[in-house]
Amino acid sequence: MLLSITTTHQPASDLGYLLAKHPDRIQSFELNFGQAHFFYPEARADLCRASLLVEVDPIYLTRRGQTVRDAGALYPYVNDRPYVASSFLCVALSQVLRSAISGRCKERPELAAQAIPLRAELSVVRCRGGEEFLRRLFEPLGYEVEAAPLPLDSHFEEWGPSPYFRVSVEAETTLAQLLTHLYVLLPVLDHDKHYWVGEDEVEKLLRHGEGWLESHPERSRITRGYLKQRPSLVRMALARLVEDEEEGSEDGSRSSRTDDREDFVERPLGLHDTRLKTVAQLLKEAGCRRMVDLGCGEGRLLKRLMEDRHFTEIVGLDASIRALEIAHSRLKLDELPEAQRQRIRLLHGALTYRDARIEGFDAAAVVEVIEHLDPPRLRALERVLFGCAKPGLVLLTTPNREYNAKWPALGADSLRHPDHRFEWTRAEFGAWAGEVAARYAYAVEIRPLGPSDPDVGAPSQLALFRKTTGAGSTAIMEKHHED
Ligand code: SAH
Repeated sequence: MLLSITTTHQPASDLGYLLAKHPDRIQSFELNFGQAHFFYPEARADLCRASLLVEVDPIYLTRRGQTVRDAGALYPYVNDRPYVASSFLCVALSQVLRSAISGRCKERPELAAQAIPLRAELSVVRCRGGEEFLRRLFEPLGYEVEAAPLPLDSHFEEWGPSPYFRVSVEAETTLAQLLTHLYVLLPVLDHDKHYWVGEDEVEKLLRHGEGWLESHPERSRITRGYLKQRPSLVRMALARLVEDEEEGSEDGSRSSRTDDREDFVERPLGLHDTRLKTVAQLLKEAGCRRMVDLGCGEGRLLKRLMEDRHFTEIVGLDASIRALEIAHSRLKLDELPEAQRQRIRLLHGALTYRDARIEGFDAAAVVEVIEHLDPPRLRALERVLFGCAKPGLVLLTTPNREYNAKWPALGADSLRHPDHRFEWTRAEFGAWAGEVAARYAYAVEIRPLGPSDPDVGAPSQLALFRKTTGAGSTAIMEKHHED
């Protein structure tokens, strides 16, 4: 199978830097299923073409063929796998062009981030959904698509139209985007993957799909195809994609609290700092060592907890990959010594779907998160948090809407942040917290956060939920009784 990438961006031979492969050399790579060769058929200043040729070892195919369900007896020996752009090509791509896919380029970092004219040609693509499906996958991403059907041998005409095409896609884009799109979409077109598809494929799909898949009109078919139609994985991925789209539209402004309206009004009070300090202190006083920060955002609370050895296991979960990336660098996770690194994990996930990874913790913090959820989704969060994750202690904060009247810049009727779906008065928060606590067997206590005003109360409010039954809470409750 053969993939060629061409650019006319000048000097075109800079493509060599982007691909991290010298244009004068032919390089070969051993893969566990065969070999890949990388070379440049043309490398001029005005046009540069690089090719990846993948050869699949026939012995590998023979062995694998015995395990392919529903394959005919001849399948291991007679099949299209050596020729078509399939998951074999994608594995080769990810191994041979690892840095280019991730957008890294030491020599030309600005070029790696720049949209340049790029064309990818694939000698054979198997597309059961026909040319139309091919177009539906690539055109929404801005590609011009050319597809030439490759006729079947006349012996096979009774099989109907050929599903094989020579394909090219062309756009002004970054090389990393082009390679990523191919990486995700080729196995979808081909409708097969030669390896076992498990949960890590969901993570891979979400990672590679970030920024485009959640809004792609064919995201469901792409997700199903990529995950080999495995229903549980598809459900998991789609749930998270939907969250990404809904929560992601405002990712930047919402998770970076530095320049939004909320921060503008709250900053003079140092309110966010007060919140985080209070939460960290309460967690410690309650004797919680293993805790999860739900909707951790850019990791401000996590950072604080990491600085205190009292906390032995710290997990942050957020729906926004961007926020998690910022948290990752804020916490300098790549530089931490191993023992420290073991203490912390960041998870991509949605608080509105049950998630075994957040079950069994001493405590959960939910700081300034609920007001970002639509009320019907809040129900889901209640179930996930209090019904399934069931930590011994939940510390949850949210703004007190009554206090907004004290900020003339805000006006009494507006909310502190454009993404807030609601802000509650003290009475509303108290009623909600009381009702949830009663439903899920927690005891709740509400505390003001920030300087209290006699008329409107404090700017923020905290609910402290303690589990009243269940084994998970025993240690914390005992500690609390000692206090
Ligand atoms: N707790 C952090 C961030 C608050 S901003 C802090 O106090 O600094 C709200 C965060 O909740 C955002 O990072 C947002 O991505 C996240 N969020 C919103 N809805 C979510 C959901 N359904 N599941 C997981 N995270 C969510």
